[in-house]
Order: sequence, then structure tokens, then C-alpha cells
Amino acid sequence: MTLEAKIPAGPLENKWDKHRFDLKLENPSNRRKFNIIVVGTGLAGSSASATLAELGYNVKTFCIQDSPRRAHSIAAQGGINAAKNYQNDGDSIWRLFYDTIKGGDFRSREANVYRLAQISNHIIDQCVAQGVPFARDYGGLLTNRSFGGAQVSRTFYSRGQTGQQLLLGAYRALSRQVASGKVTLHPRRDILDLVLVDGKARGVVARNLISGEIECHSAHAVILATGGYANVFFLSTNAMASNVSAIFRAYRKGAFFANPCFTQIHPTCIPVHGDYQSKLTLMSESLRNDGRVWVPKRPGDKRPPHQIPGPERDYFLETKYPSFGNLVPRDVASRNVKDQCDQGKGVGETGRAVYLDFADSIKMEGKDSIAQKYGNLFQMYEKITAQNPYETPMMIYPAVHYTMGGLWVDYDLMTTIPGLFAIGEANFSDHGANRLGASALMQGLADGYFIISNSIGGYLAGAHLNDVATDHGAFRSAAQDSLDRIRRLLAIRGKRTIDDFHKELGKIMWEYCGMSRNEAGLAKARQLVHTLKAEFWDNVIVPGTNEEFNQSLEKAGRVADFFEFAELMLSDALARRESCGCHFNENYQTEDNEALRDDENFCHAAAWEFEAEGKEPKYHQELLAFENVVLTQRSYK
Ligand SMILES: Cc1cc2nc3c(=O)[nH]c(=O)nc-3n(C[C@H](O)[C@H](O)[C@H](O)COP(=O)(O)OP(=O)(O)OC[C@H]3O[C@@H](n4cnc5c(N)ncnc54)[C@H](O)[C@@H]3O)c2cc1C
Repeated sequence: MTLEAKIPAGPLENKWDKHRFDLKLENPSNRRKFNIIVVGTGLAGSSASATLAELGYNVKTFCIQDSPRRAHSIAAQGGINAAKNYQNDGDSIWRLFYDTIKGGDFRSREANVYRLAQISNHIIDQCVAQGVPFARDYGGLLTNRSFGGAQVSRTFYSRGQTGQQLLLGAYRALSRQVASGKVTLHPRRDILDLVLVDGKARGVVARNLISGEIECHSAHAVILATGGYANVFFLSTNAMASNVSAIFRAYRKGAFFANPCFTQIHPTCIPVHGDYQSKLTLMSESLRNDGRVWVPKRPGDKRPPHQIPGPERDYFLETKYPSFGNLVPRDVASRNVKDQCDQGKGVGETGRAVYLDFADSIKMEGKDSIAQKYGNLFQMYEKITAQNPYETPMMIYPAVHYTMGGLWVDYDLMTTIPGLFAIGEANFSDHGANRLGASALMQGLADGYFIISNSIGGYLAGAHLNDVATDHGAFRSAAQDSLDRIRRLLAIRGKRTIDDFHKELGKIMWEYCGMSRNEAGLAKARQLVHTLKAEFWDNVIVPGTNEEFNQSLEKAGRVADFFEFAELMLSDALARRESCGCHFNENYQTEDNEALRDDENFCHAAAWEFEAEGKEPKYHQELLAFENVVLTQRSYK
């Protein structure tokens, strides 16, 4: 199979307009004949459900949580990018496009990223119209702050609760459609499989998480908006329920998985402080607007921060990257933080932390101004660490945060399975090898509010689909497969807990496929994962039964998928014999220890095709053509 990205011809600026004009339209009275399944109620899923229902389609929306409002998107803190240029500081659609392409180390599609930058401004208008309370300046205009990898201020925010406020906006739009009967909500459902009929996506198998009942749902098209899979590392900043299962099941049914090894490590998280921790907490990147990152110059210096005078401090990001300073992109900041700690300059009990210090900003602007911008984040930090960041610097260390990989999609956001679409963090998206801060919310809402509504109409108008009932053989056999897998998990009755296996898997992935990798380590990790996976299927204990509310069973299914997925990640990391963005292979680096790309051999998205159980997946390449930007060595100096 050859990958066809279906990028429209013509100048970059006109591609999206032209494409929308070229797409077949479904007339409004016909739309009510189509049923669409949307899995996920984060920003991508909620916005897509609301928009498609508003257009007249019948939408069935699924999520794991008891309410759509509990999707992981609610945790997003810092903000959402848009090229409004209210500040007049030189921003433009082109600059947002360029920063994003460069930020991703030239491993994303020009056409998609340009469209994202174009749509960014419409997102802000739509959200403001919904009543999202973005911060404003003294004159009433929406105000902005800066995020990494940009020299302009283009990030719109609602204190440290931007995701929550955006999701409440999308949820209001969704609730309106629920009330009008166009959206049927199915909370507390776990999607276990995708159902294909005649090679097209026609439905899903779901487990009712309260009763354990296995349900089948059919539709004319399926959209997966199931978020990211960073929890393959066990410890991450993601919500506990974030998982890979739905997209991994789709991969096993024929949807290609792109760039699975591109994982974002965020530099500003609260450091790990014990072996019994199950979650890590992000301290928003926005804090690097006012916080200064430093370590003591002398390795092993254990004095408390206030006893270390200015000249004995190393503000290493400011010195090494004078143009961007503390606001270098996340991959660059993370690697530098690790490097300082590896040199013995790390602080805190474990030596795996650096300071993020607000003393200078408080002196300059006053405590009230800092509290206004970051009050809730400071409060959160104090609650977790029992230290007051107004008085003593925060301690931070990088942690797994976001996944740039996901299901491969074409320009219409359709996967390699006709009728199966992937949006938001679940697709391999527009962020290339490294996502810039505040770009995930932008992409999720661009996909959900503005792109999918056009592209799915084009698909349905040309697809000639009959109705399929859920007693069709394809549904019955997919439901039986799901049930068999559940019974197999319950029958093991071994001795090790699910979390115990998950934690060990996470440690292997962090050690060998985390902030930096090398070929020997990746090969070793493959062996370790393979052995641990076999032990999981032999020795895990899953208590309870299927016919009840059983969170252990839920978790077991997800961890089983993480095992298989980890193998795919490692294959991808091994195949990419270069360094780019977050994929830092120690064998490929510049003299200054920056990522060294190999554009001749790896200027592509790697897309993996499932072959068969126990067989190596097949490696495909979507070559990336750059017609509008020049590929350069990324520099933030
Ligand atoms: C702590 C934190 C802070 C962040 N801050 C920012 C920020 O300031 N700016 C920014 O741009 N980005 C930020 N991000 C990233 C951003 O929040 C996410 O990328 C984005 O919210 C993902 O949205 P989504 O709609 O794709 O998925 P999610 O919000 O993760 O939603 C996934 C949905 O899918 C459902 N689901 C998943 N699997 C299944 C299944 N098997 N069956 C049924 N339903 C399923 C879930 O129930 C949920 O409803 C942050 C991330 C973290 C972790």
C-alpha cells in the first residue's frame, strides 16, 4: 500500500480554501441520514461532536469518564497559540507556521501546519463567542504570554486553567446538541475494538464499565479522539486514564501508526520523589516567562538556594541560548536540564532537579502581578511539595508529557482505513518531532471545530454506504474476540499486580527510550519488554469478574496494549537512525550536543503497518516535501 497524504496542489496559502471548494458537499437534509461515532470528549472529541451535530449528522459520543468534562484536556494549564498579533510584536500566520515547522525539527507536513496556523485565529473567535474567559489587557483586548520556541507573544490563556475553560466552552456546545437529540452520550464506555465491513470502518465494540456488558455500535464513519499514550512510561503528566488502546486496536485492524517513538519530555515538572508515586505533575511552561532556571556552578554544592550568591549560579539556558533564554523549546530545555544533573549540579535530595526561580520577577513586578498570572500553579506546587514558591525557588525536572506519534492520517485526517478518522493528540499530527508549547490545544480544536466537519462530509458524500446492523458477522466476531481477551486476562490469576508490571515497563521505556537513546539500549529494551510481556500473560493477577465495575480489569487491558505498543515504539526508535527533536539518539549529535538530523535518509514520517501476531510490523515512509521553508540546523542561540 502506498501512503497518499492527498495534499492539495497550489500555493500553500490557498490549499485549504481550494480543498474545501473541491470536496463534495452533503446537502443539509441528507446529513441527518448519517450516523457518526466519536470516541473521546476531550477538546478534539467534544468540539467535533458538537460541530457535526450542529451540521445535522447523528452523533454517538463515547468516553471513559462519568462526564465528558473529565477528559484529560481539562488539565491543560498554560494556553493556546494563535497568530492574532494583537501585541503587534511581529507575529503572522507565516511566523506561527514557520515556528511550528522548525520547532518540530522539520518532520511534519508543510500543508497541514500552514492550515493549522490559518485556523488558529478562528479558534480564538469561536471560543470567545462561547464565553471562554481568556485573560485581557488593560484596554480589554485579549492578552498573550510567550511559550517556548517563539520570540513573539501569541499564547492566549485563562490563568493556569486554559484547558478547563476551553473544555467547558466545548462542553456547553456539546450539551446543546445532547439536549436537541443530535448527540447521544455514552459515558463510562471503554472502546475495545474497531469494526470493519467491506474494508471500511463501520462501528465499535465497547465495554460498559459499570455493568461489564459488551456492546456493539454501528455508524457510517468513526472518529477516534482518544488523546495521547504517554502513560506507556507509567509515570507521566497525563491523566491516569490516558491510554493507547483504541488507536492500537485500530492499528491492529489496518490503520498505520506513525512516528510512535516521538515522545515529548516536558522540562518543568515536579521531580519524582519516591518509588510509590503513580503520577507526575506539570508546572506549566508559561512559568518560564518569569521564572529563571539555574543550578549552582559548583557540582555537589548542597547549600540552600538563598545562600548561593548570584556569581555562583549558572543560568545555563540564558547563557547557552541568549536569543531564546529560558524559553527554548521543550526538547532543548529538557536535555540541558538532564545534562546539568548528569554533571552533578542537580539540586534537591536526589540531585535530579534544577531551580525555577521567581525572585527577580517578584522584585521587578511585585508579588501580586505574579500571583495574578500563576496563582493557582503556585498553590498547586505548594500543596504537593510543602514549599512556598514565592519565597523559595521551585524545583523542577523533565517528565514525559505528550505524544507526537499517533495514527497516520492524510490531509483529511482520515487513517489508512476508509471511514476511520483520527483527531487531536490521537493522530500523528502537525508537531513533527517536537511539539511547541500551547500548540496541542490549537491542533485539537482546529481538527474538531474546523477540519473534520469538512473532510468527513467529503468522505460520506462519495462513499455509497449501506446501513449495517450490529448483528452483522463482523460485529459478532469482534465482540467475541474482545470477550475472549477479557476472559483470558481474568483466568491468569497470577501473583504480580498490574501496576507492578506497568511500573517495570515504564522504567524500561524511560531508561532506554526516554530523553536520550542509543542503539544498544534500544535493542536491550526490546528484549526486556518481550520477556516482561510474556511474564505478564503468565503471572498477572486481575481480581474480580467481567460482570461488574472492575477497574483492575480496565487497567489490565490497557497495560496489555502498552506492552505491544512499547515494542512498536522501540522498533520505530531503532529504525530512525538520526536525531531529531525529541528523538535524541546519542549516536547522532552535533559538536554542541544538539540533535543531528539526517535529511537525506530520514526526511519522512515513519508509518507502521501491523502484519500479524508475533511478526515484525511493516515500515512505510511518507516522504516530506519542503517547498516553502529551507531545512536548517535548528538553532535557538
Ligand atoms: C498537565 C498537562 C498540561 C497541558 N497543558 C497544555 C497547554 O497549556 N496547552 C496545550 O496546547 N497543550 C497542553 N497540554 C496537552 C493537551 O492538554 C492535550 O494534548 C490535549 O488536551 C489532548 O486533547 P484530546 O482531545 O486529543 O484528548 P484528551 O483530552 O486526552 O481526551 C481523550 C478522550 O478520549 C477518551 N478515551 C480514551 N480512550 C478511550 C477508550 N478506549 N474508550 C473510550 N473513550 C476513550 C477519554 O475518555 C477522553 O474523553 C497539556 C497536557 C498535560 C498533560
